Amino acid sequence: MGASSFLAGILLRRPLGRLRRAALRLADELPGVRVTPWQLRDPEGLARVLERAADELARERRAAAREREVRDLILASMEEGVLLVDADGLVRFANGSAERMLRGPIPSASALAPTSLREALRAALRERRPVTVDAVRGAPARYLRATAVPVEGGGSLLVLRDVTEAKRVEEMRRDFVANASHELKTPVASILAAAETIRTAAAEDPSAVAGFAERLERDASRLARIVADLLDLSRLEAGSERTERVAMDTVVREEAERLAAQAREAGIELVVDARPGPPVTGSRRDLALLVRNLLDNAIRYTGRGGRVEVAVGPAEGGVLLRVSDTGLGIPSRDLPRIFERFYRVDPARSRETGGTGLGLSIVKHVVENHGGEIRVESELGRGSTFEVRLPAASG
Ligand code: ADP
Repeated sequence: MGASSFLAGILLRRPLGRLRRAALRLADELPGVRVTPWQLRDPEGLARVLERAADELARERRAAAREREVRDLILASMEEGVLLVDADGLVRFANGSAERMLRGPIPSASALAPTSLREALRAALRERRPVTVDAVRGAPARYLRATAVPVEGGGSLLVLRDVTEAKRVEEMRRDFVANASHELKTPVASILAAAETIRTAAAEDPSAVAGFAERLERDASRLARIVADLLDLSRLEAGSERTERVAMDTVVREEAERLAAQAREAGIELVVDARPGPPVTGSRRDLALLVRNLLDNAIRYTGRGGRVEVAVGPAEGGVLLRVSDTGLGIPSRDLPRIFERFYRVDPARSRETGGTGLGLSIVKHVVENHGGEIRVESELGRGSTFEVRLPAASG
């Protein structure tokens, strides 16, 4: 060995030792990198290990970036809001939904509103378990359900769900059950009372029996009407079976005939103008229900001497049905609500004339199920016009 290579050997000993340790650590960290004792001894071998490690690291970085992209895509497309708060209370990440629900970017947990969200984060950290709270945010009110979850390292995750729509549906369902129960309870109570009176009157005053029996019959048929409408409505909520090609002029003629006697008895002139138009793809039964309910309303809400007109015929892209009357009319403030279930302008008049409060709700569902549109115009004391447009069957 010459003097210079001896010197080089001494000078290189320390850096080589460090390189060996670095190579061993990299081999420990990276599953794709292995070192043999021979490579450790030879600078050339060490260089190859390091190159291998550099390749492996670059591959891992690319894979991590791809994973991050996928994760960001998932978080960005989630309906739930996700917010990550670190141990110092700083917001490290918030997806789009979280910023939408919280109305803007949130720099830190202390800026979270309403306070119940901050409290949920604190409680989750304190109790080391997920904590769920409900919160109301801003005007118009949005209802949020938030779950705070503690994460390793002292931070926490806040997962937010907008439950406004679910709450509205639940409220509607509760209202509907309450209204339906109330509607059913009234005739049932009346039937029970009439039955009891008949039982006692049968012995004491047989002549009164007929009157009570009549009342009993009236209430029982009212009950039957409510039940029938409720069944129709629940069937229509699931959609209409659109399997037939329906000629609306025939449906209108048939329904007008059905109600002719009722109109005559009420002293109302019923005028029919049914012109053939293109057929409508739909359920004949449901379309008949639509016409019947509009006509029935027009007759019931028009006084003696009035006039009800039903016209049907071709219109742009389909069929136009128009039912107009010269009756009571509907106050403009009530117009937006008349299609709601059990909504009535004058509950007493509706019940007196055999209404269930469900007719227009049924009408609206049939129209929607057939891809149509409904419009109403009304003037108090002068009458109302309901216009339904139904698209023609294709092909
Ligand atoms: P109802 O069984 O009470 O008639 P509907 O759902 O058919 O229930 O109608 C809802 C309310 O709309 C009625 O109670 C009535 O106040 C009003 N209404 C519907 N059609 C007419 C009409 N042609 N003229 C006046 N008011 C009407």
